Amino acid sequence: MLGKIRWTIAMKVGSTIAMLIIFILGLLIHSIFAIGDIQSDLQEIADLDVPLTIISNEIEITQLELHIEMDKILRKSSLKIVSGDLNQTRIEGLGRKVFKLMDKGISFAEKGVKTGKGGSVESFYRISNTLYELKEEFSTIHEALIQLIKGPSFEKHFNAELVSSILKKDEQFDKKAISLIKAIEALTVRKAHLAVKHQQMFKVVNISLGIIGVSLGILLGTLIVAGIKANILRLSKRMEEVTSAIIENRQIPPEEVRYTNSSDELGMLSNGLSRLIDSLSADMSKRDKLSKRLYELATIDHLTKSFNRFKWDKDYRSEIERSKRTSSYLSLIFFDIDHFKRVNDTFGHDVGDTTLIDVVRVASDVIRNVDSLYRIGGEEFAVLLPDTKIDDGVVLAERIRVAVESHEFDKISKLTISIGVTWFQGESDSAEQFVKRADQGLYKSKENGRNNVTSV
Ligand code: GH3
Ligand code: MG
Ligand code: MG
Repeated sequence: MLGKIRWTIAMKVGSTIAMLIIFILGLLIHSIFAIGDIQSDLQEIADLDVPLTIISNEIEITQLELHIEMDKILRKSSLKIVSGDLNQTRIEGLGRKVFKLMDKGISFAEKGVKTGKGGSVESFYRISNTLYELKEEFSTIHEALIQLIKGPSFEKHFNAELVSSILKKDEQFDKKAISLIKAIEALTVRKAHLAVKHQQMFKVVNISLGIIGVSLGILLGTLIVAGIKANILRLSKRMEEVTSAIIENRQIPPEEVRYTNSSDELGMLSNGLSRLIDSLSADMSKRDKLSKRLYELATIDHLTKSFNRFKWDKDYRSEIERSKRTSSYLSLIFFDIDHFKRVNDTFGHDVGDTTLIDVVRVASDVIRNVDSLYRIGGEEFAVLLPDTKIDDGVVLAERIRVAVESHEFDKISKLTISIGVTWFQGESDSAEQFVKRADQGLYKSKENGRNNVTSV
């Protein structure tokens, strides 16, 4: 599915930015949640822990006030001072205040049990239990105090037993109160730690996300730039290859990676160019074949497949120029089939044609690779012999003559040829004289009774 989408450069850049935005959004969402967590922890501290601490402090203060009152009673009772100024109403008032504070504390702690998160539920539960226990302790102390004040024996004699039980209970109450304060403190400290931990984690995650985001941006950016660079390099390399092939008139070499998978604008351009080059290459190879064919048509004799008159006219002049330039030998053979008219007359034109083909084949088998055979007239042929002295030319001419003479031709059986041989004689010589001499040699061979070689 993804492979079918056209990835333009704009899309590549856009997707990088989109990726980065997603990362930043992720970071923001994470931050919002992390802050929410910290806030709810702090909210719990503000809603429950702080009021609980205040309540526990108030309980302590009220308890202290009660202690003062208790001290007064106990001192008076131990000194057996009978006095009417014992403030029963104040003690009762303080007691009510403590009960009220405890109930308030219990309701906060119970709320904490219901709404608290994680480990704090257990702490709230412990606080509420301690408060219940404290309330119980306090109620016995309070009752005993009231009993002590109201007791009929109070004014007559000192109730040592009751006083000692009150003091013992009060000691227990104090211990419990301290453990309550510690439980509240521990809860708050734990939450504060948790908030700090949250903050640290928040920082670590933020930094990691930031690093990942930046790395991803750099990576994607580099990949896009590298992709664009590779495409441009490939294109310019290919252009160079194609240009030099065209300039040097060579076949355009096939590309290693013909089409790129890259679907951006440069990839499309590269593929378009590859297609253009392919069709150009196909055109050029077609043109090459065509020009080869045209060259063949222009230079090869249709019947015998030897070189034709047109090529002969071009070649003998250029071979003369080469011979002059390099001071090399150049020999020339002219041969003509003897009494060929009779072949046509006796066996027909078609047999004459196949005989011409056979003569060319027989002569071609004898000459060397460097020599060229031309049909320069109806049954007249020339052989150009580069780098060949006249003596060697005569030997080769004789070899051709013997090959034809000894060949068993289809239908007509035997056939002979007459040959003239010459060589190019340097600056003093000319193209016309060169050809003319070969012709004269041929003519002389005819005169001398045919089927022989004459060098001029
Ligand atoms: P000579 O020994 O003096 O050369 O005698 P000749 O008969 O070979 O010479 P002549 O010039 O009188 O005749 C040449 C004949 O070659 C005439 C012509 O019909 C024939 N000829 C030329 N071109 C072709 C060809 O393409 N096909 C065929 N079948 N015959 C051809
Ligand atoms: Mg002839
Ligand atoms: Mg002739």
